[in-house]
Amino acid sequence: MFNLYEPTESHSALRKLAQDLARGVLEPQAKEYDEKETLNESLLRRMGSEYNLFGITIPEQVGGHGLDATASVIVHEEFAAADPAFTLSYLAHEVLFVNNLYYSAQPALHAKYLPPVLDGRALAGMAMSEPGAGTDVLGMTTFAEKKGDRYILNGVKQWITNGNCGSYFIVYARTDKTSRTGISSFVVERDFKGFSVGKKEIKMGMKQSPTCQLIFEDVEVPEENRIGEENGALLHMMRNLEIERLTLAAMSLGIARRAIDEMVRYASRERKAFGKYLSEFGQIQQLIAESYARYRASRALVYETALRVRPDRRESLSAAAAKLSATQMAEFVARSAIQVFGGYGYTREYPVEKLLRDAILLSIGGGTNEAMQKNIMKDLRDSLQ
Ligand SMILES: Cc1cc2nc3c(=O)[nH]c(=O)nc-3n(C[C@H](O)[C@H](O)[C@H](O)COP(=O)(O)OP(=O)(O)OC[C@H]3O[C@@H](n4cnc5c(N)ncnc54)[C@H](O)[C@@H]3O)c2cc1C
Repeated sequence: MFNLYEPTESHSALRKLAQDLARGVLEPQAKEYDEKETLNESLLRRMGSEYNLFGITIPEQVGGHGLDATASVIVHEEFAAADPAFTLSYLAHEVLFVNNLYYSAQPALHAKYLPPVLDGRALAGMAMSEPGAGTDVLGMTTFAEKKGDRYILNGVKQWITNGNCGSYFIVYARTDKTSRTGISSFVVERDFKGFSVGKKEIKMGMKQSPTCQLIFEDVEVPEENRIGEENGALLHMMRNLEIERLTLAAMSLGIARRAIDEMVRYASRERKAFGKYLSEFGQIQQLIAESYARYRASRALVYETALRVRPDRRESLSAAAAKLSATQMAEFVARSAIQVFGGYGYTREYPVEKLLRDAILLSIGGGTNEAMQKNIMKDLRDSLQ
């Protein structure tokens, strides 16, 4: 029988590896790095150098695993059950840079930049958002002006995951001032003159994952670092957003499953009130049962969407629906877990408060839930004959 969650033996093996790493390596460091508000950089590098877990979705010929979106969902789901914040930095490197570079850039850029990011020598990220342009991303003002065989890049990018540890970034910039869609993308190296890292944000959640401003002051970018055609970045930006939304939805699944596990154990084995385990009370049963049913429904939607998301086609409607459903569900489930734990849930003694703090970002990053609602409406309207 077809298994939606592990279609092949490769997927089953990958889930086992990701689960083992999540429990044995990610979980033990999660609380410490949340409190330090610092990325466990050596662990992120080891995802490449030791565990070979970068390049899941890109072909074996270029050093990847040759697997599909379902495989990427599996890793993000399992990792997020242990540490969503570490997983966010993993996602920025693996999905926003590695997957994006392979499917959007020319072979010369693959040859130069994939080897160091696949083996963890270099970390990476993607810079699209700006201080004045988030949801309205086509309102970006960062500009790349062509001068001879280079572009001169000026502007500021905001909220960039891995901003202070990344060596390479895919940077989107306007190359045509007369058109909102005249956008190109470039690989920018940290060491290019004129590039600097600005403020690091202090956040309510996802604390281990660094979020920084990037500043470009007359940065000279060689023409060969332009990805694809000039003014042609919009299509690959939108295509990569689909797998980003899918993997953020997968992270929501991991958070929800962990919150449910914590609730069931606490309510059935640990905490008693009025001489009975909490799980004997109908209202507690309702919180846990609702959480479980909503989690299972979102999980089916996310994995069904993963079958559709492929680099050679657009699947924006399903990706938006999966993200909207799963992120709302994860917030509901994590919030329910705090309620089941009562006062203890509100403290750092138990992991559920961190799950809620981390879950909230998933309704914002990669496009807000309001943006998902608008995209879904637009796609449904456009599908009318
Ligand atoms: C921790 C973190 C990590 C991030 N990592 C990255 C990264 O690595 N790279 C990157 O490029 N970006 C990144 N982002 C940016 C993220 O994608 C944006 O924050 C997001 O797209 C929202 O943009 P904004 O914050 O400017 O909000 P705004 O666009 O200002 O939106 C504010 C509110 O208005 C609503 N709104 C806006 N327009 C409309 C509309 N037309 N209709 C209805 N409601 C609307 C929004 O839904 C939201 O509720 C990150 C953000 C965070 C917080």
